[in-house]
Amino acid sequence: MDRQQEYVLRAIEERDIRFIRLWFTDVLGVLKSVAIAPAEIEAAFAEGIGFDGSSIEGLTRVYEADMLAKPDPATFQLLPWRGDEHGVARMFCDILTPDGEPARSDPRNVLKRTLERAKDAGFTCYTHPEIEFYLFEQRQSPEDPLVPIDTAGYFDHVARGTAHDFRRDTITLLESMGISVEYSHHEAGPGQNEIDLRYADALSTADNIMTFRTVVKEVALQQGIMATFMPKPLITSPGSGMHTHFSLFEGDANAFYDPAGQYQLSSTGRSFIAGLLHHAAEIAAVTNQYVNSYKRLWGGGEAPSYVCWGHNNRSALVRVPMHKPDKGPSTRAEYRALDSAANPYLAFAVLISAGLKGIEEGYELPDGAEDNVWALSDVERKAMGIKPLPGSLEQALEVMESSELVAETLGEDVFEFFVRNKHQEWTDYRAQVTPYELRSLLPGV
Ligand code: GLU
Ligand code: MG
Ligand code: MG
Repeated sequence: MDRQQEYVLRAIEERDIRFIRLWFTDVLGVLKSVAIAPAEIEAAFAEGIGFDGSSIEGLTRVYEADMLAKPDPATFQLLPWRGDEHGVARMFCDILTPDGEPARSDPRNVLKRTLERAKDAGFTCYTHPEIEFYLFEQRQSPEDPLVPIDTAGYFDHVARGTAHDFRRDTITLLESMGISVEYSHHEAGPGQNEIDLRYADALSTADNIMTFRTVVKEVALQQGIMATFMPKPLITSPGSGMHTHFSLFEGDANAFYDPAGQYQLSSTGRSFIAGLLHHAAEIAAVTNQYVNSYKRLWGGGEAPSYVCWGHNNRSALVRVPMHKPDKGPSTRAEYRALDSAANPYLAFAVLISAGLKGIEEGYELPDGAEDNVWALSDVERKAMGIKPLPGSLEQALEVMESSELVAETLGEDVFEFFVRNKHQEWTDYRAQVTPYELRSLLPGV
């Protein structure tokens, strides 16, 4: 047993922990959990805990159903909302096949493989997500209208507002689990909030996002309200994005930073961004995985719709934020299409792959867009070489299916499952007769 594993065993004993939840994530980004007793933990570290993988979305084919969940001791944390007495802790797991090999269909493994490639090229990847979500009143039935918990807007201070308590409780829980929060504020939509996690290596960030979603849902339940990461719940209010800032480090040095470069951006940073832009359309089905995701991208509200980059340009897909000299070399690229309902492991994997490809192939970065690209005409955008993002899940799937980059990054199993699952979603959606159609066609037509 290594030192981290020994630390976990000691903590379980000293803190009177009765259940250890083993967490992992299915291909669509849904958190899965199995609780084990402390007595099982040594075996779990040694060879993993067996479970039937065929009941988990995308994890196995039915004929190879047995899988093992092997906890990562570095992710051991108490679940603070379960109380101190007879406590509950969790660890994220790696999924293994019965012969002990990492399961290629495990999203965490997909990201780890990509980060290994970054490491081979000499880079550690850091990410910093800005997570937006809505808070609604509890509904009695799914047919009830969505009622936001307040009518506040961007950065509004709401006197005695539920959202304050909500953010305070959420952040307190997150920090007690070792997840640092940088900013939090009311977002532009009614009941919409944003919490930004402090930057961390990409794997920890993806784990932190999974924990974050759980904590937000937990606090909402405690407060008798409903939290949702759905990309676009309200027609006339902005959607919920998960803008994520990316930077690569070589040792202690930010590889995106060059004091002499435009916006202090190094040639590595430029090629990484060029990679993000070049592959934006083919990775969209992963970064924006639901039918509803495209309602956000094409529904206004400061979500990006066109493939371009800019310095502090909020209409661009990739933004290079203002460099703050007092913060040291914090040069980074903010990718704004990603939404709050994505599987963070898969989304980070395809984004980092796209950026690395840009570096490997030395892609040239086109000129940045200084205009508000939403306000330009189609002809103007065309003249500037600015292409649209896919308009729907169907369009996104079409480009993804012929993408070598996505196939290589996700691996055959995840790629096939994902395409099949998303085609089904599109087929189901296409068969719907929506309130919009009834309203606009009846009684006249
Ligand atoms: N809610 C917007 C989106 O969907 C982002 C607003 C902002 O710039 O923070 O991307
Ligand atoms: Mg925001
Ligand atoms: Mg942002």
